[in-house]
Amino acid sequence: MSRSAHPAGPRHADVLPESRQSTGPDADLGRLDPAIWPATAQRVGGVLALGGRSVLDLVADHQTPALFLDEADMRQRAAGFVEAFAGADVFYAGKAFLCSAVARWLEQDGLGLDVCTGGELAVALRAGFPPARIAMHGNNKSVSELTRAVDAGVGRIVVDSFAEIDRLSAIAAAAGVRQPVLVRVTVGVEAHTHEFIATAHEDQKFGFSLAGGAAMDAATAIAALPSLELVGLHSHIGSQIFDMSGFGVAAERVVGLLGRIRDELGLELAEIDLGGGLGIAYVAGDAPQAPKDIAGALRAIVERECAALGLRAPRLSVEPGRAIVGPSAITVYEVGTIKAVELGGGAQRAFVSVDGGMSDNIRTALYDASYTCVLANRDSTAPPMLSRVVGKHCESGDIVVRDVWLPSDLTPGDLLAVAATGAYCHSMASNYNHVPRPPVVGVRDGISTVLVRRETEDDLLRLDMGLTEMSVRT
Ligand SMILES: *Cc1c(COP(=O)(O)O)cnc(C)c1O
Repeated sequence: MSRSAHPAGPRHADVLPESRQSTGPDADLGRLDPAIWPATAQRVGGVLALGGRSVLDLVADHQTPALFLDEADMRQRAAGFVEAFAGADVFYAGKAFLCSAVARWLEQDGLGLDVCTGGELAVALRAGFPPARIAMHGNNKSVSELTRAVDAGVGRIVVDSFAEIDRLSAIAAAAGVRQPVLVRVTVGVEAHTHEFIATAHEDQKFGFSLAGGAAMDAATAIAALPSLELVGLHSHIGSQIFDMSGFGVAAERVVGLLGRIRDELGLELAEIDLGGGLGIAYVAGDAPQAPKDIAGALRAIVERECAALGLRAPRLSVEPGRAIVGPSAITVYEVGTIKAVELGGGAQRAFVSVDGGMSDNIRTALYDASYTCVLANRDSTAPPMLSRVVGKHCESGDIVVRDVWLPSDLTPGDLLAVAATGAYCHSMASNYNHVPRPPVVGVRDGISTVLVRRETEDDLLRLDMGLTEMSVRT
């Protein structure tokens, strides 16, 4: 099985569970498991509905493929984190999915916002998101990105390298401001889903090594710079994590560094940010923790470790992205072709081709991610067929749902809805094969609103400068 890059750093072949083999079919293939589907998803007369609108109406208005975002579901999750983390700060990780409307909802619901590029910052600022509640990350922020962040009054910049400390201190000095910063600490913990490893594993691009001493050196350097204000430490250990013990080890190590900074620099830092990475249910059996349990566990660890060192407990923050938006959206595709393949022993697999694919959901190809889907435009009592939902791209790895049972009367023109596509699908979408990116449509109380419109062929052609004099010269 291929093992490829992970958004939080490299990942280890020996850490991930093998991709889950499909279990036997559910008695009702069209069942919407409430652990996986958005809160308002239901069947009305056999037809999937979201936010009070039938997918037949949604598709009539917005075509396929399209992502439909259940606004009420997302805002409930966002508010749930704010409530569970009362007394701490919740920063939504914009990279999971960001547009103006989402930024506005989060602002209204009391969250902060993480951005990691100038582009994400531009969306936040255009939405009128209060800059003081924005944190900026990234291992290679450019001078212009840093300048823009400082000029806009971004509340926290998470510094990631010594070069950046130099750049940022010069930019802040020139602007005449004292920029609050956190130090990104690589704590030697890496977590994925069911397991974590806590060794001196630091072979990745992000942050300052704790074990190697770079994190302490960075804190020391920042403390000596009048244009930077060292307010705290930051750690982010991975993504799609179910096992909380990795956060515990990270928190212990970060608090240990707080103690060292107090002892050696005489500074009691006021904040620690433990990052994001909280898992969601993509398929049956995935069992994420409730935000209030996560909040309780993190608080207890931080308080215990601080008490042991005689430190005042710092203000905590977390940065969930996937756990807020992931479960809230579905992608609806139209089936184009169905091909049966003999697997031997009388078994068959149906390759169900849909009108999107790896350009709107790269996660299956990139991370071997698991998804589930249902027939959306009608119900069916036909016997199950083992299926693989694939896209229209020129890649055999163009797989959306690796293994799923679908009714065997599935036919071209049927609609399939894939669950839990809110995070890292549209935000990682590409134009591979010059396929325009699908829209993201918000749905609430029977009303659908285009949040990000569908790309058009004109959008694609506009970037192509045509036959200039240079290109036709022979
Ligand atoms: C990716 C990332 C997050 C969000 O991760 P999720 O898995 O979406 O919760 C938070 N903080 C940092 C620094 C990240 O890189």
